[in-house]
Amino acid sequence: MKALVKAKKEIGLVLSEVDKPSIGPKDVLIRVKTTSICGTDLHIWNWDNWAQSAIKTPMTIGHEFMGVIDQIGSDVKGLNVGDRVSVESHIAGTRSRNAKAGKLHLDPDTVNLGVDRDGAFAEYVSVPETNVVPLPDSVGDELGAILDPFGNAVHATLSFDLVGEDVLITGAGPIGIMSAAIAQHIGARRVLLTDINNERLVLAQRVCNVETVNPTEQSIADKMSAMGLKEGFDVGLEMSGSELALKEMVENMIMGGKVALLGLPSNEISLDLSKVIFKALNIKAIYGREIFETWYKGLALLESGLDIKNIITHNFEYSDFEKAFALLNDGKAGKVVLHWS
Ligand code: NAD
Ligand code: ZN
Repeated sequence: MKALVKAKKEIGLVLSEVDKPSIGPKDVLIRVKTTSICGTDLHIWNWDNWAQSAIKTPMTIGHEFMGVIDQIGSDVKGLNVGDRVSVESHIAGTRSRNAKAGKLHLDPDTVNLGVDRDGAFAEYVSVPETNVVPLPDSVGDELGAILDPFGNAVHATLSFDLVGEDVLITGAGPIGIMSAAIAQHIGARRVLLTDINNERLVLAQRVCNVETVNPTEQSIADKMSAMGLKEGFDVGLEMSGSELALKEMVENMIMGGKVALLGLPSNEISLDLSKVIFKALNIKAIYGREIFETWYKGLALLESGLDIKNIITHNFEYSDFEKAFALLNDGKAGKVVLHWS
């Protein structure tokens, strides 16, 4: 079968002919239909420091996808050949304290699809049955490819009560934009989404109808006043990984405000903690998704009319992967979907 492989310790990926994966009694073989490219895949393509430390070659990469079940292992129950499914890409262990307590997203022994074991940028992928999520008909094949990053947005955005609250989201990447759409859908009062790249703010307007600002052109404080807010934002979602954005967020929060941190800084950053303390901010770090509560809530949000499809800006056949990665490396796209079958 065809697969996108990090074949050698160098920049890029190779479209290779590899063996179709075999499955064990508790595994499922999925015929991949659509995949989407994550920031993680870009790191692997670019072979940066993180990728060099994390990826053993050769490795088929990719973890954001949907497909159709092609084969089921002899002990698999409740899933059938032909089911349309997506997959939780964090394959948790069973031995740690958190895993035993059912907090699978906090299991330190987690193995990541497309990073630690062969992933989904391929015609077929094998996964444990426990990680399979059946899809409702209302979630189409394109949308099915982006449920993994959508899950990051759902997990972060639902981590604090947003109903009737004023929300600041820094970083209008795909996850920030989807979070803005979720915040609006679930009843936040005012939502302000920031980015230093105006193209991202234009994309945001195609997905949701929230206020946006480029903080290099107008300060968040000025924009906040113009929106009629006096004391600061009640909830902040940091989704850029930028030190400056985090500092600006702390400045513009209300006393006792709640901040969720999802953006990953590429280096160590500094922050005046006394400001955080004197404002009595409640800061929560977000990693991945809650398995499987986030999937349940996310699919329910989509079924209740949340519309995020415009975050997908490009579709390509898998053989055009080089174009897709170039577009993303140029910061010119939202989510990019590759079609496999
Ligand atoms: P992305 O890189 O596409 O988006 C980040 C955006 O932040 C960009 O549009 C960039 O222009 C913007 N930005 C940079 N500096 C800014 C500033 N000072 N103010 C406002 N915006 C600024 O990333 P994404 O795919 O949307 O993911 C968002 C972040 O979440 C990334 O840092 C990613 O690494 C991280 N992430 C974390 C988890 C987790 O489990 N915690 C999971 C997935 C992604
Ligand atoms: Zn991802």
